[in-house]
Amino acid sequence: MSSDHPSRMGHPRQSSTAPSSPPIYQTTAFDVGDLDVLHSIHTGKIPGDIYTRDSNPNHSALAESIAVLEGAEAGVVFASGMGALGSIFLTLASAGDHVILARSMYGKTVQLANRMKSQFGIAISTFDATRPESLREVLTEKTCFVLIETVSNPLLEISDIQAIANILPPEVPLVVDSTFTSPMLIKPIQLGASIVMHSGSKYINGHGDVMLGLAAGSAELMKRLNRTASVFGTNANPFESWLCQRGLKTLPLRMAHICRTTNELAQALNGHPSLRRVYHPSLPDHASHEIAQRLYPSGTGGILTLELAGSGRDAVNAFMRAAESIPFSPTLADARTTLSHPAMTSHSFMSSRARAEIGIRDELVRISVGLEPVEMLILELTAALNSLTSNRT
Ligand SMILES: *Cc1c(COP(=O)(O)O)cnc(C)c1O
Repeated sequence: MSSDHPSRMGHPRQSSTAPSSPPIYQTTAFDVGDLDVLHSIHTGKIPGDIYTRDSNPNHSALAESIAVLEGAEAGVVFASGMGALGSIFLTLASAGDHVILARSMYGKTVQLANRMKSQFGIAISTFDATRPESLREVLTEKTCFVLIETVSNPLLEISDIQAIANILPPEVPLVVDSTFTSPMLIKPIQLGASIVMHSGSKYINGHGDVMLGLAAGSAELMKRLNRTASVFGTNANPFESWLCQRGLKTLPLRMAHICRTTNELAQALNGHPSLRRVYHPSLPDHASHEIAQRLYPSGTGGILTLELAGSGRDAVNAFMRAAESIPFSPTLADARTTLSHPAMTSHSFMSSRARAEIGIRDELVRISVGLEPVEMLILELTAALNSLTSNRT
């Protein structure tokens, strides 16, 4: 009688078997037995979810996965990589505090820091993360955290995480954005970082169909981040967490393939007459070649940056049209290989002069290597580059 209204239907029957693949807990809230149960959940005596903005089984499963992979106590998931970074700022920094960023950071991260400065009075300094000692010049009593990336975009400069962590006083957390590298290539927590974060929209999911962010660190810090996510609403949603968990299953295979392919591609394209330069840490002329050998013996991930020999937008357009099988898509870490143009996407918020100062020239094309066989990519990219050379002569 009481369950014959459609609004009460659709709950699966209890079963003696469990689903082999995790279910999606697509629910806003959870039914709680009574006030005693509620109290026991609140006080941590028994596990339980109450409201999805605070916690959800799909979020917890993914958060635990990233914690295990990073060798951290706990993890948290967020609506996006920027949701994670925004929550880190809102948790660790207050008005009047000081935050230090690596000089070269993901474009939106720089914009986030600028907002924190203009709207909330948080002072921002930068340092060269490839020269850890330069951190001492900007570190102050007010510094509340330092934020770096494992490998920079798009020139692939590598931070010496351990050396940077060693310079910081124990009460100043080092936050590392490991989006480009993933826990398959480096585990920043084990090198002295307090928090490692990822855009789950990139390699962790790896299929170009999710927006998500993740962080891992001590249980205490993760609890604080989770509270921020709940209060500011930067929480993830169950379906995205479920999809990302599914993508994560193949991360080790994908990263191994992508690193091998990218290294071979860098070798194969290096010295092509249509290129002024290939930026990749596996090449001996790269500024981070030595540290790459030490920290990333199997590779630095799937990013490779080409500097075209031609000039400006015309050269880039000609290359994009010639490389027709490789789409221009302003993201990275999709399952397929994609191209991007840093000057007009990730770094378009900067003046051309500011871009020039950090080496982001208009002729740079960033390649995010996907899962195709290396022979196929070498063939397609060399054909595109060859056509540029023949057009110029
Ligand atoms: C993409 C990216 C982010 C932001 O992640 P979203 O999921 O797009 O919000 C942060 N850091 C790096 C290095 C990224 O590549």
